[in-house]
Amino acid sequence: MQLPIYLDHAATTPVAPEVLEAMLPYFTEMYGNSASLYSLGMQSREAVENARKIVADALNASKNEIIFTSGGTESDNMALRGVVQAYSGLRKHLLATPIEHHAVLETLEKLEREGYELEMIPVDSAGLVDPMEVQKRLRPDTLLVSVMHANNEIGTVQPIGEIGRLCREQGVIFHTDAVQTFGKLPIDVKEMNIDLLSVSAHKLYGPKGVGALYLRRGISFSRFQEGGEQERGRRGGTLNVPGIVGLGRAAEISINEMDQEADRLTCLREYFFKKLTDNISGIAFNGSRAYRLPMNIHVCIEGVHGESVLLSLDTAGICASAGSACSSGSQDPSHVLKAINMPRDLARSALRMTMGKTTTIESIDYAVESLAQSVKELRLMSASCLA
Ligand code: PLP
Repeated sequence: MQLPIYLDHAATTPVAPEVLEAMLPYFTEMYGNSASLYSLGMQSREAVENARKIVADALNASKNEIIFTSGGTESDNMALRGVVQAYSGLRKHLLATPIEHHAVLETLEKLEREGYELEMIPVDSAGLVDPMEVQKRLRPDTLLVSVMHANNEIGTVQPIGEIGRLCREQGVIFHTDAVQTFGKLPIDVKEMNIDLLSVSAHKLYGPKGVGALYLRRGISFSRFQEGGEQERGRRGGTLNVPGIVGLGRAAEISINEMDQEADRLTCLREYFFKKLTDNISGIAFNGSRAYRLPMNIHVCIEGVHGESVLLSLDTAGICASAGSACSSGSQDPSHVLKAINMPRDLARSALRMTMGKTTTIESIDYAVESLAQSVKELRLMSASCLA
């Protein structure tokens, strides 16, 4: 078996060979600025427009509703600020869940400091939002609701269509961060009544540093980044042509393989869960069992620290994550685990393993075997320290 066994696909994914192949010519022979009028520029423009069509089709949107960005973080910042600034002064109430990515939470918290009213929609112990909790909080002055499609740590998938419908009925703008689901779960922005949606390429075997924002036609939007007139004046800056081509190709492949890969990963996930329960005592599963990203395993293991387990797994050639990649390194439980009221001690034992294209039964067997061995050793060590 080839090492490392990579079980951190929620953090990032390798660029697929077909994606790299599609991108390469745009670094060298086809390097034209997509805004230039001569044929070298036109080639780049055509490639960008082709990628735009792929991303739009994947969402059931139209091409003009797609803005290319530098990734999920920018898409989230741009979505929230762009809308809030455009409707500035009209409505002041903003709603979000406490388990959003920092790109959403910190943008909203900053807006709160600037005078907007931010209210949190509670989640249950599995991280699920009850749409009725959204409905209860919608007010005549609610400007925007932001609820992520799936959580990057515990993998819970939210009832986005239902929340979108409630927002649309009340004339409230609805943003969803779909960084963990684009190309992995079906998304139809029309059917789900989504107004703004964030995408990132590096979660679906595309390059890092490129993403997209879906902005529904008719939603007022204030330009977030000053500069040239690129992206129909909505985002200044020379386009990252190779990156955009990579996003397009990655989206094309992911959409083609989506159903099959989701079924495969769901079967592997259930196998993984069973194998963990059969081989490690004191293991608890976090997040929702029914509404869950196919690739996500998130557990707490009694009597060990997530970081110690990670280091030990690394020695065995396994890449995983203690909670969220964004908060690893910190001793504090992540904001997501705090929001689902996980006791501090338990949260410190959290481990996230996220599967992808290279994950097989054999790699899961090896990972569980190594994990069981690490846990045994770590428990023995802490028992001897206490003795
Ligand atoms: N939103 C979610 C849910 C994520 O998981 C991430 C990345 O981990 C981001 C936003 C940020 O995306 P990017 O890394 O492209 O800036």
